[in-house]
Amino acid sequence: MSVRVDPNLMKELEAFGLKDANKCFHCGNCTAVCPLSTPENPFPRKLVKYVQMGLTDRLVERSEPWLCYYCGDCSDNCPRGADPGETMMVLRRYLTSKYDWTGFARKFYTSEKFEIIAVTIVGILVGLAMWIFHAGNPNMEHAQLNTVWPAPAIEIGDLIMAGVLSFFLLSNTYRCFKFVMGDLRTKIPIKIYVRKAWELVAHFLTQKKLGECTDKVQWLVHLFIMTGYSTVFMLVVIFLAGGIHVIGLSWDKIMFQRDVIYPFFHPVRLLGYYATAALLYGTTYALIGRIKKRKAPYKNSHGTDWMFLILLELTTFTGILVHFSRLLDLALTTYVIYVIHLMVAVPMLVLEVPFAKWAHLAFRPVVAYASAVKEEYLQGETSQA
Ligand code: SF4
Ligand code: SF4
Repeated sequence: MSVRVDPNLMKELEAFGLKDANKCFHCGNCTAVCPLSTPENPFPRKLVKYVQMGLTDRLVERSEPWLCYYCGDCSDNCPRGADPGETMMVLRRYLTSKYDWTGFARKFYTSEKFEIIAVTIVGILVGLAMWIFHAGNPNMEHAQLNTVWPAPAIEIGDLIMAGVLSFFLLSNTYRCFKFVMGDLRTKIPIKIYVRKAWELVAHFLTQKKLGECTDKVQWLVHLFIMTGYSTVFMLVVIFLAGGIHVIGLSWDKIMFQRDVIYPFFHPVRLLGYYATAALLYGTTYALIGRIKKRKAPYKNSHGTDWMFLILLELTTFTGILVHFSRLLDLALTTYVIYVIHLMVAVPMLVLEVPFAKWAHLAFRPVVAYASAVKEEYLQGETSQA
């Protein structure tokens, strides 16, 4: 079978953050120390080689970039300073742009200017919409968001946004799955897909592979950010906005924009506190780590890494301010901070979930699942031969 070589691949990857891969002389140290590399599936050296050789087509179908959790052990042990962990990170950005059929992810990853302009435009549009569609007679004595922005309209907007985001994310995730499975996708019996389905859930909820890395703090930080974000996402988009409505509760009890303040020990309030604390700790830790460059995964920061963390930190921080100003019943303050909160949170959701960093929340467990399915099928084939 002929293999296409792309002489411009390294140049192209530089736009995604590639720096030192050309220093690699293939000693294999990185693969030997990687806690997640296996004899059947060795990495990262193999991927660095593909990059150097310009094997674009092979890269696109590889699962390894998603099996790497960027613990940094390989980079710490590379005698040439080739930073293989960063190469794996660059490949994840590159693959995200390959899976995305709209071409938006590519622009987002390769142009800081485009990224900043896109985030700013979406933020301004949200601010304008909140200004244009506010009700004429807001309650200025008590903080009641529903008197400024009627909640059912906000909820409908929220559900439309969730639908559009899900469409882009799921279609890109399906393309990711298709690339990784290759020709085997239709050959593998459905019962193997079903038998291995638990892998999908386990990888998503526990990030269990990262737990196998030597740096347990990194696993904890990653788990906090992931569970904190998923909890908020479920509370806002699914649980509060739509899910409970199905069982017949009225809008003012279920909407994420609500004027009812739950008692302290209400499960929704406790989940909200967990998510806020987890996001605040995880994001602040990662931001300080990147500023101080204190670990291998934080030494090289791409523009999208900063944007992701800054938007997340601002969303969490403004969310806390909204919560406390509501508790203190400060009407005008609550309304102003609420608009700022949405001007930060919506661009993060609209741009990061389907097209950038957040997409890995879907790609990584799906690829781990696809790999497990393929492995079981191929083991069966070998034992029959
Ligand atoms: S340890 Fe460094 S030089 Fe050795 S194979 Fe890995 S990337 Fe290349
Ligand atoms: S960063 Fe960690 S998980 Fe990723 S390839 Fe290097 S050693 Fe393996």
